[in-house]
Amino acid sequence: MAAQHHHHEHSGHDLVHAAESALTQAGEQWTELRADVFGALAGHASPASAYDIADEVSAKRGKRIAPNSIYRILDLFVTNNLAMRVESSNAYLANSHPGCLHDCIFLVCDECGEATHIDNDAVSKTVRSLAEAADFKPERPVIEIRGLCAECR
Ligand SMILES: [Zn+2]
Ligand SMILES: [Zn+2]
Ligand SMILES: [Zn+2]
Repeated sequence: MAAQHHHHEHSGHDLVHAAESALTQAGEQWTELRADVFGALAGHASPASAYDIADEVSAKRGKRIAPNSIYRILDLFVTNNLAMRVESSNAYLANSHPGCLHDCIFLVCDECGEATHIDNDAVSKTVRSLAEAADFKPERPVIEIRGLCAECR
């Protein structure tokens, strides 16, 4: 992970494009179903569960899509940096920077459920080296802070 890089946060249509190109560059197909799942996910400001996404995609396509298929696609998105799993909410968020990899830190509001995300490579690098110092190979640091957002205080 380079200390200096051109960090780009995307939103809206631009985000969908960035996600599509990140996935196809990884050698995966951007199918219509995957595009619908990403579109539904990107429409949420708060973390969405696979069930929420399954309902929305089913409604859009006019046919029932099993939550299991949605889980597989969401996992594929997480593996390829298109989405983030917010562990403490058991839910997913579209990644606003699919082109660059960070151990995102989430601030999750206990009241409204909204998750704000910050990137701080110095913090995540420290967490990774603490794990390594304890003879543990860190694959995916999960850093989440529960509390109250400005709106809910
Ligand atoms: Zn970046
Ligand atoms: Zn991030
Ligand atoms: Zn809140």
